[in-house]
Amino acid sequence: MRKPIIGGNWKMNKTVDEAVREAQDLKLEIGQIKSVEVVVFPPFTALESVGKVLRGTEIGLGAQNMFWEEKGAYTGEVSPLMLLDVGCRYVILGHSERRGYFNESDEEINKKLKSALRSGLFPLVCVGEKLGERKDGKAKQVVENQLRGCLRGISAQDIERIVIAYEPVWAIGTGETATPEQAQDMHYFIREILRELFGEKVAQVIRIQYGGSVKPENIKDLMSKEDIDGALVGGASLKAKSFAQIVRYGES
Ligand code: PEP
Repeated sequence: MRKPIIGGNWKMNKTVDEAVREAQDLKLEIGQIKSVEVVVFPPFTALESVGKVLRGTEIGLGAQNMFWEEKGAYTGEVSPLMLLDVGCRYVILGHSERRGYFNESDEEINKKLKSALRSGLFPLVCVGEKLGERKDGKAKQVVENQLRGCLRGISAQDIERIVIAYEPVWAIGTGETATPEQAQDMHYFIREILRELFGEKVAQVIRIQYGGSVKPENIKDLMSKEDIDGALVGGASLKAKSFAQIVRYGES
């Protein structure tokens, strides 16, 4: 049985005060939920303060990105050790906004992934095709290439600590969600690739989240699919109420 994992990616939103207020609301609403692994990803500036609010709750803390080196002359970058230092356990790698706006390649994501694993963080690795690629019938090829590139050289032992987030770029922040069938089809395909690369056991235990305009209204249908093990939520995670509703999808 794979325990569902639901993440809230706050992106470049919220001052420290705003982030702390949302964390306090989440603590009240879903702070003790154990049936779902819940993680929030505030901006770097709010990590420490949010971490303090969430201490003693079941809600995990993660960062939205990191650099692969541990320290040194890399102006503007944040290292895995710095993330651990402020209480992070998780890190998102290769989000489509990083790939798109900052030209992150699979090779760079692979370096970050190896570094995150070395340092003891739990990485969420994002893959997903653009609209044109889906229309051209290349969605699976694109996702397969991303997966193989990002996961190159990772051991079967380490891979179990990774979560894959399938996030079709055309569904991120657009209000357009992949249908549960479209998402399931790609998740099944991803699991097949993981099976080929790492074996049956890994394929069975690794969690694959869906991301792209997940809301309280569509989470239940998505989660009813066999290979969908959670969600990475952007817009709808910015309000504690809607994020809590998503996390509590199993109760209604
Ligand atoms: C995301 O940024 O990972 C995401 C899925 O965003 P949204 O839920 O807003 O589409």
